[in-house]
Amino acid sequence: MDEPLRLRVAVEAPQHSGLQTALDYSCERWLSPGTLVRVPLGRREVAGVVWPGDPSEEPSLALKPIAQVLQAVPPLSARWCELVEFAAAYYQRGLGEVALSVLPPELRKLDDAQLANRITRLRKAFDKPVEAIAPTARPELSPDQATALGRLRELSTPGAAPVVLLHGLTGSGKTEVYLRAAEEALASGRQVLVLVPEINLTPQLEARFAERFGSGAAPRRIVSLHSGLTPAQRLKNWLAAHLGLADLVLGTRLAVFAPLPRLGLIVVDEEHDPSYKQQEGARYSARDLAVYRGKLEGACVVLGSATPSLESWQRAEQGRYVRLSLASRIGGGALPTVRLVDKNLLPKATGVTSTLSPQLVAALATRLERGEQSLVFLNRRGYAPVLHCTACGWKSGCPNCSAWRVFHKLDRTLRCHHCGFTQSVPRACPDCGNLDIASIGRGTERLEEQLAASLPGARVARIDADSTKLKGALEAQLSAVHAGDVDVLVGTQMIAKGHDFRRITLVAAVSPDSALFSSDFRAPERLFSLLMQAAGRAGRDAAQAARSEMWVQTWHPLHPLYAALRRHDYTAFAASQLKEREMAGLPPFAHLALLRAEARTAEAAKEFLQAAADLAAQIPGASELLIYPAVPTSVARVANVERMQMLIEASSRGALQRVLTPWMASLPSLRSQHKAVMRWALDVDPLAI
Ligand code: ADP
Ligand code: ZN
Ligand code: ZN
Repeated sequence: MDEPLRLRVAVEAPQHSGLQTALDYSCERWLSPGTLVRVPLGRREVAGVVWPGDPSEEPSLALKPIAQVLQAVPPLSARWCELVEFAAAYYQRGLGEVALSVLPPELRKLDDAQLANRITRLRKAFDKPVEAIAPTARPELSPDQATALGRLRELSTPGAAPVVLLHGLTGSGKTEVYLRAAEEALASGRQVLVLVPEINLTPQLEARFAERFGSGAAPRRIVSLHSGLTPAQRLKNWLAAHLGLADLVLGTRLAVFAPLPRLGLIVVDEEHDPSYKQQEGARYSARDLAVYRGKLEGACVVLGSATPSLESWQRAEQGRYVRLSLASRIGGGALPTVRLVDKNLLPKATGVTSTLSPQLVAALATRLERGEQSLVFLNRRGYAPVLHCTACGWKSGCPNCSAWRVFHKLDRTLRCHHCGFTQSVPRACPDCGNLDIASIGRGTERLEEQLAASLPGARVARIDADSTKLKGALEAQLSAVHAGDVDVLVGTQMIAKGHDFRRITLVAAVSPDSALFSSDFRAPERLFSLLMQAAGRAGRDAAQAARSEMWVQTWHPLHPLYAALRRHDYTAFAASQLKEREMAGLPPFAHLALLRAEARTAEAAKEFLQAAADLAAQIPGASELLIYPAVPTSVARVANVERMQMLIEASSRGALQRVLTPWMASLPSLRSQHKAVMRWALDVDPLAI
């Protein structure tokens, strides 16, 4: 009898199983790499993917056989496997863990017959002609757009896969460039992947792509991929991409792993957005993986932003990316005038500083009279960040976290935004019984209240994570804004992003200063980008653009960040930030990783990290790394778990990676001596420090 074949399979296994690579299984017949299978692991049967590469030579008596083969689904491509393998290695996670976590969950549940069924139905659905949408005319390209597209065409010769950084303000016509680039890729028979940072932004963009490509002589099939889909929809759309039925895939970060047999173009819109970084499991950056994938697949990559990440900007400066700029807004719309309100000059009302300066209130009142809309944002939800007792100094701390519980006035609760612990507001101080409990500071709820009080007759609406909890609430609120049923929109940064509000002529940031002095070196970059984006909300309608304004209330009106903002000068801001980063030895001039540990006590977490650092020191190449002492995370205790982190710095990615791989493999050995440590996780290229 023939000996059964030996195959490598990437299997789904939890991170701490220590399983980093593929396992060997036996099979009666050869299966092509990329085939989906089910295999026994321990006492369970788990999903797996037959992996490229040679199985180990080690003779093993008890090789387990592959239990099921899902033949209905064509094998994943070698390039897809390579992308996953790179992501697993770079972000230091198990191969099978990454491979299976980026596949639609339904693939694990259905058997071969069920999958075959779904695929037949899907093919049938795609055989039907698309419902015709009234075609819209393509606009004449602006000179900047024409130049950008011309360069893109020049660069995209066969065999070349350029990475382009498309720098242009909101409203400068970047999306039109994506559409035209997509058109050309589609015309040559290739697929297009478009990534957006947030689910909320997919319908808008999907509509624009559908308008352009969903009709005409050769209508294109567009599918979306994001976590807001039902499991069945997600499987369907994923299969449509994988089978090559969909021409265009639009999605959030997880879509970077969508299998696309004819991929020709990847667009990453708002490439600077932190949402592209996954914050759990394999902490990958979808933007960075998109760039890697473009090289792998010979696909052109377009990274678009008004305020590119300094990493991407730096690469463009070095010539590794090609920078293309759209210098002005379409229709010549002027940019809003930036007005800084110097809080130092405001009259001090007895002990309390008002959130809203008289100047800002007057400007808002003028808009109200003219029937124009305003947008006011503050990055803190709830009514007030903390309650306190005026007699004994009690504050509304969370018993489980090192954080204050936020006062929510609408339902009179104190809520912890970290662990969720919620109680009704006490009638009297829990410590001394005093009835005089006051709130300190302000959140969006209070701002909403103050705006309504300062602007009698104004229709004030609030959009933040609290007001949009119910499904459909955000859509309903947004359409009220679009319909003109709102005069003043209050909210967190949620409203500063992406939404195309046509009637807004004033945008105000009431209290953005804290980011200027944050311990996180990226805070200024994020603030600048947020303010630029918020400014882009104002005056998108050229007719109104001339009188649109952006207001910033600040204690530091001379800060260089605000100076650059006044001139809408990202380039100057980037240059000054990059200089600071270079002097301080921070990214993109250094490469970082962050090891975090969680334990019942801070000591236990710290001891573990120290022991980990000692292990690292023994690894060849460790001398090229700088390992900082462990420190508590910004909110150290959450739900009674203490969190510490340790920063690792290297001058090159290579130096970092050479140590990280053996180091991560050695950490499970610490487990037995550090039983109090509940978990640890490594974040490569962390975004928040
Ligand atoms: P961005 O993506 O940079 O914010 P958009 O591509 O959305 O910019 O363009 C802003 C607005 O200008 C949109 O309403 C778009 O339809 C319109 N637009 C874009 N390019 C042109 C063009 N060449 N001619 C006329 N209108 C255009
Ligand atoms: Zn008290
Ligand atoms: Zn808490």
